[in-house]
Amino acid sequence: MEHAVVIAGGGPTGLMLAGELALAGIDVVIVERRPSQDFEGTRARGLHARTIEVLDQRGIADRFLAEGQAVQIQSFAAARLDITDFPTRHNYGLALLQTHFERILAGWVSELDVPIARERDVTGFVQDDAGVEVEISDGRSLRAEFLVGCDGGRSLIRKVAGIEFAGWDPSVSSLIAEVEMSEEPEWGIRYNANGTQALGRLDDGKRVGLVVSERYTGQTDEPTLRDVSRALVAVWGTDFGVHSPTWISRFTDMTRQAVSYRERRVLLAGDAAHVHYPVGGQGLNIGVQDAVNLGWKLAQVVRGNSPQSLLDTYEAERHPVAARALQTTMAATSLTRSDPRIDAVRDILGELLTMEEPRKRLAGMLSGLDIQYDLGEGHSLLGRRMPDLDLITAYGPTRVFTLLHDAKPVLLSLGGSGGLDITSWADHVQQIKAEPVGSWELPVVGAVPAPTAVLIRPDGHVAWVGDGNAHAGLPDALTAWFGPSTAG
Ligand SMILES: Cc1cc2nc3c(=O)[nH]c(=O)nc-3n(C[C@H](O)[C@H](O)[C@H](O)COP(=O)(O)OP(=O)(O)OC[C@H]3O[C@@H](n4cnc5c(N)ncnc54)[C@H](O)[C@@H]3O)c2cc1C
Repeated sequence: MEHAVVIAGGGPTGLMLAGELALAGIDVVIVERRPSQDFEGTRARGLHARTIEVLDQRGIADRFLAEGQAVQIQSFAAARLDITDFPTRHNYGLALLQTHFERILAGWVSELDVPIARERDVTGFVQDDAGVEVEISDGRSLRAEFLVGCDGGRSLIRKVAGIEFAGWDPSVSSLIAEVEMSEEPEWGIRYNANGTQALGRLDDGKRVGLVVSERYTGQTDEPTLRDVSRALVAVWGTDFGVHSPTWISRFTDMTRQAVSYRERRVLLAGDAAHVHYPVGGQGLNIGVQDAVNLGWKLAQVVRGNSPQSLLDTYEAERHPVAARALQTTMAATSLTRSDPRIDAVRDILGELLTMEEPRKRLAGMLSGLDIQYDLGEGHSLLGRRMPDLDLITAYGPTRVFTLLHDAKPVLLSLGGSGGLDITSWADHVQQIKAEPVGSWELPVVGAVPAPTAVLIRPDGHVAWVGDGNAHAGLPDALTAWFGPSTAG
């Protein structure tokens, strides 16, 4: 094998996955079409709270926080969803352009010595029982145990794997561009039957950033200045003398999801697995979190600690999260339009969202803080993100997320529980005794009973909860997630 894992595509998802695998000591390479992380135009504008948390779990959140701006970015139906009262250290979103996000993340990945084969495309692959032969545009092929398609919405990997991309065709198309205008335009946001239209001054005070909808008629060509002019006239009755575009791009509300995230040794993550309209700003965030769910599982399988069936839990856990985001985004997209009936729905929803319960419900979902993977019946913490509590240990004070920096599982004994013997998993699970400081509270759920022990997966989700001195189920949970005991 030349590499354990080949990742097609080094956007946000591919970079995060590469970092996770490298932390776990797995030999991984990224094959990326672009010559650098730069791209034309703007895409994502910010991070949601759970994405900031997963970066914090790896000790790199500060790099992003230093370059972005903490803001309450969440909204739905024009109602602002403030999460200041959520029990998390990151009770906000981070305004940070995708280009900066990718640059900072690529810096981390390069510190972890992940090679990136740039200016090359993955052009195809053939898989057999033992591995995947990945074809590269430079004429070479790379042999790997696994191939992960992080190659965006038009994913070649998904197509070659024959995985259906099920969902809905576009109903609206939007042009996004940076241009100059010879007349002073009407600055600000305007809503109409097609959606949200916006004209804003760019930092240089001269150029204009715009988003304008056009009727969707199956456009597949590269958008032109003429398209922008026509769309401006349709909304404002004039194109304000638009000229000299720096770039023009088009996006639609096509909403689709891969019906399966895995075809034997080939997996999909990020936009390759799900696409939707950008309203609500979910795409990059879900992709990065897909990567954090998949990375440690793939590492376990490559190392031979766990069977390939562990990879099925990736789809079981992440497919529902994206499906839910697709539904919410379709609803939010409808509410970007304006006519008397939609306006009435928006007003009613806006009113409901001033109430505590609906605000928390929706904000918990959009921030990613409410995710609970289905790990069966049990304590409220089971399957949810472990809160980042302050801890007192024999080695001094620390906090939960610090224990996850190396992306290794942690069995946290929280006082009172004797007899937790995991000697035969000690090779791959850290055991730490600690006194928690602060209250056990979860976003949306509220206060939960204090556990006496928790088994935390490398992605920060709770795999098992101890109650009193009863440790039933711990060996099963350790085996299910981290492989059989070395005692055999
Ligand atoms: C206008 C707009 C606004 C957006 N706003 C937000 C927002 O506010 N918040 C948010 O979370 N998301 C937003 N998104 C979505 C976000 O940009 C995407 O979800 C995110 O980029 C997905 O990351 P990814 O790594 O999965 O895919 P991509 O970013 O598409 O990366 C795929 C990578 O694969 C490479 N590639 C493709 N094919 C191949 C191949 N065959 N071989 C080698 N390399 C290949 C590409 O060059 C690219 O680098 C927005 C998108 C748009 C268009």
